[in-house]
Amino acid sequence: MVRPLYSREKNLLGLLKIGRDITERKQMEEELKEARENLERLVENRTAKLQESVQQMEQFTYSLVHDLRAPLRSMCSFAQLIQTEYAEKVDGKGKEYLARIERSAERMDALIRDVLSYSRTGQITPKLEKVDIESVLAQLVGEDRAFQEPAATIVWEKPMLPVEGHVALLTQVIRNLLSNAVKFAPKGKVPKVQIWTEPKGSEVRIWCEDNGIGIEAQYLGKIFGMFERLHSEFEYPGTGIGLAIVRKAVERMGGTMGVESEVSKGSRFWIQLKASSREPSNERRPELWKSTV
Ligand code: ADP
Repeated sequence: MVRPLYSREKNLLGLLKIGRDITERKQMEEELKEARENLERLVENRTAKLQESVQQMEQFTYSLVHDLRAPLRSMCSFAQLIQTEYAEKVDGKGKEYLARIERSAERMDALIRDVLSYSRTGQITPKLEKVDIESVLAQLVGEDRAFQEPAATIVWEKPMLPVEGHVALLTQVIRNLLSNAVKFAPKGKVPKVQIWTEPKGSEVRIWCEDNGIGIEAQYLGKIFGMFERLHSEFEYPGTGIGLAIVRKAVERMGGTMGVESEVSKGSRFWIQLKASSREPSNERRPELWKSTV
């Protein structure tokens, strides 16, 4: 730093140069920078290793669960064979037990299918593109009678705001929400489902509202977890994985989700994704997932 030096009479006497040795501070800054870079590298390495272990674990679970299907199928087929080929030799009680074996095997098969679907959702690294929700809905309703009159009334607002998503993941999400919306209806009441979009800043919220049985407030935070069910298999069949798949798929697309509900009045599920202003891609539409694998 250079400063002018004056006499009492305000005459300029000269210039005063003040210098400070900052070598030590510079050295400390360098050391700090190096330590920070080392820490970042360490965190990156650890995260990569953790991701690799999670992936290996998921692959292991996938093949384990997949391999369970073969023995299960053979148990089911042999129970059916006894029922048909030894019908006269098996009494009423025996037939009832065989039917139970079959029902349990079917339930286990449904669980395996859903766990595989959940695991596959986690393995997808989605390339996001503009998705037209109306065409996803038209396709889903067109291919399932449970979504058509007279079984149910499903209506949606036109036009709907497009979102940045992954067609197969979003189709799976909307299918699961629709399936629940028509399933959790009081006996004898025709399910009515309405879907619409709402702009939320740079994002779009997709609402799916039903007139079903509703959910008690205390369970609203739980139902997106794995195997969380509020009813017996007898009342409403299911595996408790549908909404866990919704959560995982929405998170993979960088979105959020939630639910509002009132018992006996209905539920309103929502998912929120980035709004899209892009032109739809010309790439071939990915095959929609079948419900069986
Ligand atoms: P599943 O449908 O196989 O039971 P889900 O994970 O899809 O499993 O849903 C978890 C639970 O959340 C359901 O068992 C049900 O109790 C509740 N639920 C989900 N959707 C609805 C809905 N639209 N109306 C009422 N309850 C619902």
